[in-house]
Amino acid sequence: MLIFKGRDFHIRILLPTDSQLKNARIECGWQLKKILHGYRHILKQRLHSCPDLVSFVVELKTILEIALKNTQELHVPRPPEYYSCLVRDLEILGWNKVAYVDAGLTTIKLKAEDSRGRQHLVTLRLNAKGGSWDLFVCLLKQGFLNCFLVLAVYAIAAQLLQYLLVCHCLHWKCCIGLKEATSQYPTEPPDCIVDFPVQFAISWMPQDSLVTIHNQFLAALESLKEFWDTMDEIDGKTWVLEPENPARGATARRIAIGSNVSVNVEVDPRHPKMLPECYFLGADHVVNPLRTKLNNNMHLWDPEISLLQNLKDLLEIDFPSRAVLEKSDFTKDCGICYAYRLHGAVPDQVCDEPRCGQPFHQACLYEWLQGLPSSRQSFNVIFGECPYCNKPLTLKSSVKKP
Ligand SMILES: [Zn+2]
Ligand SMILES: [Zn+2]
Repeated sequence: MLIFKGRDFHIRILLPTDSQLKNARIECGWQLKKILHGYRHILKQRLHSCPDLVSFVVELKTILEIALKNTQELHVPRPPEYYSCLVRDLEILGWNKVAYVDAGLTTIKLKAEDSRGRQHLVTLRLNAKGGSWDLFVCLLKQGFLNCFLVLAVYAIAAQLLQYLLVCHCLHWKCCIGLKEATSQYPTEPPDCIVDFPVQFAISWMPQDSLVTIHNQFLAALESLKEFWDTMDEIDGKTWVLEPENPARGATARRIAIGSNVSVNVEVDPRHPKMLPECYFLGADHVVNPLRTKLNNNMHLWDPEISLLQNLKDLLEIDFPSRAVLEKSDFTKDCGICYAYRLHGAVPDQVCDEPRCGQPFHQACLYEWLQGLPSSRQSFNVIFGECPYCNKPLTLKSSVKKP
């Protein structure tokens, strides 16, 4: 007999005298009965098909997981202490720092402002973590069943005596405790979801509360201040083509340099003032000189000044200003599908002919070239001609996406 602490579901699998699994009966409490109600035929079928108890228990676990997912409202309510503890912690923290609380007190959003006045949110999920059920199945798999069965044999022997005495049906029982969804708060921290470019791991002591999380959140915001300053400057002073609406956690920006020319920079959130990873997009005759300048001027990089200013100095360019030009000046449509965005992708291939310079989606151009009898393919490289000016061009089937 195995019983777990906390709120448990109990399942009893009653095996008949012949120990045939297919004739076994399953008994359980009303809550579990309700959860498994729609799955009775599946359980019956599994009892028939499973060769032994272990495989049935594994199947049962899967069925139960699905059933639990589909019956949200059947989660056992948490003990009253959980709510009183949480409300008390929210009051200590101050309701002005709370952006959202759901009705069941399972999702809480806390807000905070960094020293630059940027607003940030941390979402706390006080849902269940993987419970002792997983541990049980794990133990079963690791041979724990062996001793379990020995115990069961003893149980049979003991119950045989009982049978002889009181003429009951012989069955051996196993009682499995299934730990139900219980939050570990405040013993364990809730899951914290943040919009950060780095992981947000909180250190937690059993006496800690929401105030601890909020303080650690504030400290993390300060540690990322320089990164967000860097990104804010790029977003504010240049035309960022990708991502469309950068999240606080986004470390890459594709900055427009000119018509069909852009540079994708990947900023290190921990060292935002260091030279970022740069990847140029555009026709070779425009992009190659920029690459050369970047390589030749790399020694000029000055960590004391901003990343954007450094990029300007190294590339010897001025990024097109947001004040003078429109974003549409840089977002030229694909020459094949006549759209800018195709399944989230933007045109990232450009004809190298200076007088043409037509942009294409990689997928569109690949499909186009494949359909032409004049194209030639070698491994993953396709050789063909620009659909606009017939200049020879080569295309890899998988091109590095910015
Ligand atoms: Zn296209
Ligand atoms: Zn062309």
